[in-house]
Amino acid sequence: MVYYWLISMKVYIADEAGFCFGVKKALNLIARLHEKKYNIQIYGQLIHNQSVLKNLQEKGIGYTDTLAGLDRGKKLVIRTHGIPRQTEEKLRKEKIDIVDATCPFVKKIHRIIEKIEAHPAPTGSGRHCIVIVGDRDHPEVTAAAGYARQPVVINSSKEAEKLEAAEKIHVIAQTTLNSDFFEEIIAILRKKAGKLEVYNTICSATKARQEAIRRLAPQVDFVVVVGGKNSSNTRKLFEIALEKNKNTFFIESSRELYSPGFIEKVSRFSSVGITAGASTPPQEIEKVKEYLIKIENIAKEIKNGRTKRSFQH
Ligand code: SF4
Repeated sequence: MVYYWLISMKVYIADEAGFCFGVKKALNLIARLHEKKYNIQIYGQLIHNQSVLKNLQEKGIGYTDTLAGLDRGKKLVIRTHGIPRQTEEKLRKEKIDIVDATCPFVKKIHRIIEKIEAHPAPTGSGRHCIVIVGDRDHPEVTAAAGYARQPVVINSSKEAEKLEAAEKIHVIAQTTLNSDFFEEIIAILRKKAGKLEVYNTICSATKARQEAIRRLAPQVDFVVVVGGKNSSNTRKLFEIALEKNKNTFFIESSRELYSPGFIEKVSRFSSVGITAGASTPPQEIEKVKEYLIKIENIAKEIKNGRTKRSFQH
């Protein structure tokens, strides 16, 4: 944990906040290709962060969500969340020049599902099924589901309760799942399966980041979680922090803190914890930190009627 104390707001940054291994790897790969002057397009959003995507766009690196949107003259970088097997097969068949930036932790899920599918249940042995626990609309889950013949996606204990009993259930986690939630689902599925095979595929970066905010959130007056609103891992951090500290704010960028309403809410506090999702750039965390360090001065300026200057970014 890094600790700052200027004026009277104590600002703590949770361990592991910000870019994870998979995101750094993907961004380095793109930077190397860009340096070599390759024309690049990305399949899907590389990561869920608007400022990073805008930065790439400014370098001429856009993305497509569909095969129809492909620019065949460009190298196609596969997003960190991966793509369904069928999509990859189509791309390869069409001889698209692919560079795979799928995170190795996500790739591991694909390999697990392939291995399960390679050994189907013997005839007469009862129903076997593959359950993916995660957000069914998230690209990582859609991609992983594409590796299974008949995947079942579960994202709540209610859905787990409704699952039909089976002889054998293989249960796999979205990499960014809240580990407590995964345990909750496993406990329900255990009652439904003759045999339950658990693959805890929550990535180590996610586990460490969640643990860090679990420890920090109850020790500070309020928490700021920074990251894309469509970022699954950031949302999970927000949920964990909120569970431990009801004064938790979820922001996409430091600009959202530049409001008299926010300042008023936190003016009675003297310590804050910051964490950030795996796709939040370090510069954004730094801006949030700098702003919160100075928040007392800004509050005084507001009180003295000098709000305009305070809110220049
Ligand atoms: S959060 Fe984990 S799985 Fe996702 S890109 Fe980062 S390291 Fe990979």
